[in-house]
Amino acid sequence: MKEVIIVGGGISGLACGLHLAESGYKVTILEKEAIIGGLARSFFIQGKWLPLAHHFIRLSDKTTQAYIKKFGLLNQLRWIESAQVFWYENKPYLLSQPQHIFSFKPLDFRSKLRLLYLGLYVWFKEDWNELNTTDCKEWLNKIAGKKNTEMLFQDLMDIKFNMPLSSVSAAWLGERMHQSTRNRDRYGYIDMSWQKLFNRMAEEIIKRKGEIFTDFEVSKIINSNVEGKDSSAKSISLSADIIVSTVPPPILNNILNLPDEVKSQLSKIQYRSLISFVCGSSQNISQYYWSAVLKPHLIFGGFFNHTVLSPSSSINDKSVYYFFTYLESNDPLFNYEDDKIKDIYLKDIRSLFANFSLDWYKIFRIKFSDPIFVYNYRNLPIEFTDNIYLAGAYRQYPKPGSMDVALYSGLETAQYIINKYGKS
Ligand SMILES: Cc1cc2nc3c(=O)[nH]c(=O)nc-3n(C[C@H](O)[C@H](O)[C@H](O)COP(=O)(O)OP(=O)(O)OC[C@H]3O[C@@H](n4cnc5c(N)ncnc54)[C@H](O)[C@@H]3O)c2cc1C
Repeated sequence: MKEVIIVGGGISGLACGLHLAESGYKVTILEKEAIIGGLARSFFIQGKWLPLAHHFIRLSDKTTQAYIKKFGLLNQLRWIESAQVFWYENKPYLLSQPQHIFSFKPLDFRSKLRLLYLGLYVWFKEDWNELNTTDCKEWLNKIAGKKNTEMLFQDLMDIKFNMPLSSVSAAWLGERMHQSTRNRDRYGYIDMSWQKLFNRMAEEIIKRKGEIFTDFEVSKIINSNVEGKDSSAKSISLSADIIVSTVPPPILNNILNLPDEVKSQLSKIQYRSLISFVCGSSQNISQYYWSAVLKPHLIFGGFFNHTVLSPSSSINDKSVYYFFTYLESNDPLFNYEDDKIKDIYLKDIRSLFANFSLDWYKIFRIKFSDPIFVYNYRNLPIEFTDNIYLAGAYRQYPKPGSMDVALYSGLETAQYIINKYGKS
């Protein structure tokens, strides 16, 4: 029986581990955090599980839906229809339908036409790889016009990724816009959180003699050995025939000795950090699930009314909101005490919603959130060395990171290993 160690118990690690365990491999998953699920993991509050940061699926997320079905959770998957709202100078605007674009006051008529053209362009374009060597600014200037690029897209880029458009791959942003346009306004969620799905996957791995260690931080991978520390800070060394890393590239860089050429590719993936300010309030500040705040610039780039997505997640019959801020991890805000962050957020929330009351709040800091690809990036191969393999949402460029993409990546790497070594 071949033994596999998987570093990281996020979705790609769980998917890879499950597929290998189902094929007879002895799987051990090592996860740094106290709970599995990675970026999509949840926290427990007053009898409810809520994701650390907003998380939904789209209709096109077929791999996730197949897993939800596999684990008998289809009856708990709920779909909602809800447009995205854009706040501009304290007024909300919808932009998802052509008629909305014409009512969007800040744009002149010509820019509205260009925006419509962009919508059609991204809807129909299938192959985004050909824009691999083009940056977003150049591409958007050409398709949407300079005015839209400056007025809308740079602001959206700041809100979502805190990056200049000129540094980002048009292939990656275009694919992201393609997916959003094709699947817009429908959002799916499992009642009582994605953690249910992750726990079911973990149970299946354990049923097949696999092991999952949480609170286990890997510090080195050398050949067939993995070194790390468990929850009591005790150093532990483990070995296996096969090692799969699912950690984000900046961590991979620290734990594995990478050749310069690989380091140079990985340096083209830039991570922003994220503050997720999750809170409860008796006010219903938006009937829509997703709001982006374009102008004025507030401390948060937007917010999600989670109660619209999942009414059963409300706490004490009050709404649950996710306010988010993308920033550099060395930004002082990222390291402020929770109380100070809360005051800063409340001030800006009340500049939009004067009577906003705060029932409870939690703050999560995610150092490596979404991967952002600088143009001219190439994916790393699955097989890193004879016994070290890679998986993770970041490996699926130009597809934007999602739970579905992470699941797919885990399965793809497991299948690659099974094709190479056979069923165990
Ligand atoms: C703010 C935010 C919102 C998002 N919203 C959505 C959404 O609405 N819908 C959607 O589909 N996707 C969403 N995503 C994307 C989705 O969460 C990710 O693409 C997916 O979870 C990535 O899974 P992964 O397994 O590739 O990586 P990760 O989830 O990053 O898993 C890697 C795991 O490795 C662990 N690890 C790291 N270092 C070590 C170490 N040294 N030792 C051991 N373990 C280690 C980590 O703790 C983590 O559990 C969102 C992401 C973010 C950041």
